[in-house]
Amino acid sequence: MVETCYIPLDLEQALRVRKETGAKPIAGGTDLMVVHRRGTGVVPTFPWPVMIITQLKELEGITVDDGNIVIGALTHCHEIEDSPIVPYAVKVAASLMGAHSLRNIATIGGNICNASPKGDLPVPLIMMDAQVVLVSATGKREIPLDEFIVGAKETLLQDDEILTQVRIPLPKNPYTYVFYRKIGTRKANAISKLSMSVAITLDEKGTITDFRAANGASGPKVARKREVEKIIIGTNVKELEENIPTIVEAYNAILSPHAMPEYRRSSTRRMLEYFLHKVGELPHEVIIT
Ligand SMILES: Cc1cc2nc3c(=O)[nH]c(=O)nc-3n(C[C@H](O)[C@H](O)[C@H](O)COP(=O)(O)OP(=O)(O)OC[C@H]3O[C@@H](n4cnc5c(N)ncnc54)[C@H](O)[C@@H]3O)c2cc1C
Repeated sequence: MVETCYIPLDLEQALRVRKETGAKPIAGGTDLMVVHRRGTGVVPTFPWPVMIITQLKELEGITVDDGNIVIGALTHCHEIEDSPIVPYAVKVAASLMGAHSLRNIATIGGNICNASPKGDLPVPLIMMDAQVVLVSATGKREIPLDEFIVGAKETLLQDDEILTQVRIPLPKNPYTYVFYRKIGTRKANAISKLSMSVAITLDEKGTITDFRAANGASGPKVARKREVEKIIIGTNVKELEENIPTIVEAYNAILSPHAMPEYRRSSTRRMLEYFLHKVGELPHEVIIT
């Protein structure tokens, strides 16, 4: 079935079209076009009206606003990886998505709204408490990304809404160490089999003032549990070694891998152990924010 395709020229037009027709946004199309492809050289068809949103300048760019890094929903992955202001954990995740050609058209908004458990950007973004801004013809709301993605391919996006921005609050104190690891079948151009984003902040006495970790591809959505993080926040880095088994066990309990559960659990355990051992060994000074 061939459906209507709209090409709104600004956000106001787009919101009107979305409200009146329920047309689904297409940004880079690297998820949507692939799902609906019909063969090489054949134009895909969609079961609903679609709206190409690439003209919406309001959804472009990366800025700093009131202690947040603000990334427009149409920002391409290559712009994120090249940005001097995007936090390291997010940049590195963007740089490992697909090939160069893909990163030139794939957007952060598409990666989030696609809500694949294997999507790369939600992992560091949820680790950093990112919020998403959702706009409709009748209003605007801002909610934590961790709540926006409710499960595999499932979000709280309403039929009349467009995701316009991702807002990343800058940490009060810069992280002392940040770690991002993606495990795929190949070094490049591979979807995650598993990914992990971890950050820790130490004060001058070696007290752990912040610790956060998020796991991708290990359940229907990114796994993050603040109660588990509290196990080591407030302890001293010298006690880290003896706490590692407790922390690793607590993380094991929050994972719910569907496929290859043993592999995913043991690899997550090893990544976390590696990071925590490294923190114990390295000098306690800020190296990456
Ligand atoms: C070869 C290949 C390799 C890939 N490798 C990776 C990888 O390594 N890591 C990874 O995470 N992903 C990967 N992907 C998946 C895909 O490229 C990413 O998820 C990408 O970020 C999607 O962005 P897009 O702009 O192309 O989304 P689109 O396909 O345009 O849209 C995806 C979904 O989001 C919705 N949407 C898009 N923008 C908005 C908006 N602003 N508001 C509301 N809804 C919106 C669309 O309606 C659709 O439901 C790969 C895909 C391909 C084809």
